[in-house]
Amino acid sequence: DSSNSMTPLMRDSDGLPLRLADFETLWEGLDYAAQGAKGISFFDSLGRLTGILSYRELRDRAVDLALRLNANGFRHGDRLAIVAETTPDFPVFFFGCQYAGVIPVPLPMNVHLGAHDAYIVSLRNMMKAAGVRGVVASDDWIAQVREAASMLEIPFAGPPEDFYALSRKKGSLAPFGKDDPCYIQYSSGSTAFPKGVLGTQLSVTSNARGIGGHALQVRDGDHAVSWLPLYHDMGLVGFCITPMLTQLSLDYLSASSFARRPLVWLTLMSERRGTISFSPTFGYDLCVRKMERRGIEEADLSHWRIAGIGGEMIRPAVLAKFAEVFAPFGFDEKAFLPSYGLAESTLAVTFSGLGRGVRTHRRSELAPDQRDANYSGLHREFAICGKPMPGHELEVRADDGTRCVEGEIGRVFAKGPSVMAGYFGEAEASAEVLGDDGWLDTGDLGYLLDGELVISGRGKDLIIQNGRNIWPQDIEWAVEQLEGVKGSGVAAVSMPSRDGSENVVVVVEARVKAAEEIALLEKQIHSTVYQAAGLKSEVVITTPRSLVRTSSGKLSRAGTLTKLLSGQIAVLNRDDEDAGGSA
Ligand code: ATP
Ligand code: MG
Repeated sequence: DSSNSMTPLMRDSDGLPLRLADFETLWEGLDYAAQGAKGISFFDSLGRLTGILSYRELRDRAVDLALRLNANGFRHGDRLAIVAETTPDFPVFFFGCQYAGVIPVPLPMNVHLGAHDAYIVSLRNMMKAAGVRGVVASDDWIAQVREAASMLEIPFAGPPEDFYALSRKKGSLAPFGKDDPCYIQYSSGSTAFPKGVLGTQLSVTSNARGIGGHALQVRDGDHAVSWLPLYHDMGLVGFCITPMLTQLSLDYLSASSFARRPLVWLTLMSERRGTISFSPTFGYDLCVRKMERRGIEEADLSHWRIAGIGGEMIRPAVLAKFAEVFAPFGFDEKAFLPSYGLAESTLAVTFSGLGRGVRTHRRSELAPDQRDANYSGLHREFAICGKPMPGHELEVRADDGTRCVEGEIGRVFAKGPSVMAGYFGEAEASAEVLGDDGWLDTGDLGYLLDGELVISGRGKDLIIQNGRNIWPQDIEWAVEQLEGVKGSGVAAVSMPSRDGSENVVVVVEARVKAAEEIALLEKQIHSTVYQAAGLKSEVVITTPRSLVRTSSGKLSRAGTLTKLLSGQIAVLNRDDEDAGGSA
């Protein structure tokens, strides 16, 4: 048993537990947190409290589950998949695995309600690649999980109750040691099929230490609120593991509750005096859009000291709008904290400084054709994402591998203790991104400014036309401003045409339906694209929810292109435009 070290909780002057630096495994951290009074509270979409799980109870339930797993054939290094909403079962299973020496594999839920068959196939592929011995799924998802598991030989597939009912032997715990794995984290799947990142106890504890200590400087009196799904690194590492290791009290809203009623997030921040919360830009955007229709009248957001942003391109204009709309409620725009990271580095790589808000850098590029009076060239404004966390390094490299000079755009490489050991069971894919020297190719493009990182886009999504770089977001963000376009419903992708050249295709989810409105919208899109990027594009106007999104809510341009090419995107402007031809 591991409960014999009853040291009282001690904090340093920053309010961090004195022993944070000593935790080498997650279960040691939980053993320690269990001695305090903090824990997790769960809320529904109306903001009502539905349950409380103290860190003490979490530890006891996790140990109990671990004894049952170990007594029923789950051996050191076996994998257990978890498909669950934000309920107490999720952390109990995740930490239960830590005490049992079993590798948890959180899998996404079909929250964006993509096609059923595609979801089943992707679940099956992930369970197969991870070679899971068991899968636990909450009641709402068990049928789908059973369907996905049916073709695999998985000895244990069932709801949490089935696992809690397994027989238990005393004293047979085999928890992970400091050199062991921790869990398998599937990447979002924005550019390709999600890849299973194998995190180690070392990579996860070092990332959590950097986040809780250096970046957020968690202190007594802090209170975190999160709606981020626990099956992605931002939710799991940022708002489950780090809070536990820093003994931070925590409120949970499920991702589906947030999707249904985004403003409940802010109501909770107000009522619970939340000080820390994170979201990709789209979460802040959703709140602003809701306020435009039927908003909240009262809220006190003045306690919000860290409003983190990350996970996708940071949109300064959207955040400025959020700050403007919520300033009357006490929101301080200096609370914004840009960050950059990826599953391959556990979660975080860089953070901007606390209390500085969104700082931006403006870049100008010359027009491709200076004689063209209608096109004035590009000016874009990027968020500055900060310096790497202690012990971590960044490099920006040109195509030939040499280091870029300050301000020059290249490929971003990261190195440090948070970087993964590799993709689980995928030596080849691992070697493609991870060098022998420990440098990770992030796949992102960007540049350095005084040691701070600025991300300009993803390498795979960049469109190159006649030798010119076209950044999809320049087009997307401009087109989104048009009346009649559904919020964040634009994807700019590159489509090879019959003569071998690349065509830019802009796929737009429209809020309008009438033929004249569609025709007008199409004209506006053409001229907007021209103004934004100085090029002619093909335009596909389609219905809402046609673009492909990942389980973490990110736009997948690659997925959208595949769907378009296979004819599965309804084309509302078919008469004037042939999506498959060239302009
Ligand atoms: P996949 O790797 O499966 O295609 P993914 O890259 O979206 O999906 P994640 O690891 O969840 O999977 O997300 C990390 C990526 O998110 C980064 O590589 C980067 O492209 C993007 N990202 C994260 N933070 C930022 C940021 N501050 N600015 C721009 N992009 C960001
Ligand atoms: Mg990635």
